[in-house]
Amino acid sequence: MRDLLKATIPNLTDEACDKFVAYYDLLADWNTRMNLTAITEPEEVVKKHFYDSLAALPYLKDGAKIADVGTGAGFPAIPLLIMNPTLKITLVDSLQKRITFLGEVLKTLGLSAECVHARAEDFGRDPKVRGQFDATVSRAVASLPVLLELTVPLLKVGGKAYCYKGDVSEELKTAKSALHLLHCTAETVPLASDYGARTLVICTKNAPTPSTYPRKAGLPSKKPL
Ligand code: SAM
Repeated sequence: MRDLLKATIPNLTDEACDKFVAYYDLLADWNTRMNLTAITEPEEVVKKHFYDSLAALPYLKDGAKIADVGTGAGFPAIPLLIMNPTLKITLVDSLQKRITFLGEVLKTLGLSAECVHARAEDFGRDPKVRGQFDATVSRAVASLPVLLELTVPLLKVGGKAYCYKGDVSEELKTAKSALHLLHCTAETVPLASDYGARTLVICTKNAPTPSTYPRKAGLPSKKPL
């Protein structure tokens, strides 16, 4: 595992390597009791979960306030935090069991982050957090129009939503209306990958989000903008 990690992740310190090994062990153990991930083979976990999660790392400034919306078993937030522990990350998921797992991961790895059990639609309407984040990161949560409604309200004006995607050409067309209504612009960065097309869609929030968004829980996916 250590050789695999060092060969796959550039600039990996021994301390970060130990944390990835501990994270892998916890994932493998808890995955026998709850549904965390279908990917369990070490090489696939390292490439498809750990390395893939690091795509936004070069863009995140030290100390940035970040929300991982729909974090699941902690992707991309935990690998980002292992590589840069100065990040102030809030992990959001609507499944309590996954939030419990993440609490155990943070404790074992000696990392600090906030874990929130909430629907992103409700979290985004909470005045304590709305408009407070420098960035959001999200992977495998929803189509781009839906994901933008779940994440953009959390951002400061000028903040960026980093959306981890595969081939995004069709999704970008369907996201035009959401980008317009949420006052965002998008750029795409193709990512190096052994496992098919990977793209980082970076959406910049250019003006405050209208108070109508996010709509009530379930509506963003039922009726995408
Ligand atoms: N981001 C992780 C990854 O890349 O492996 C998890 C992906 S998993 C397919 C989607 C996760 O998003 C699930 O854990 C689910 O509970 C969460 N989720 C989906 N819709 C959500 C919402 N509206 N609010 C909060 N969490 C949500």
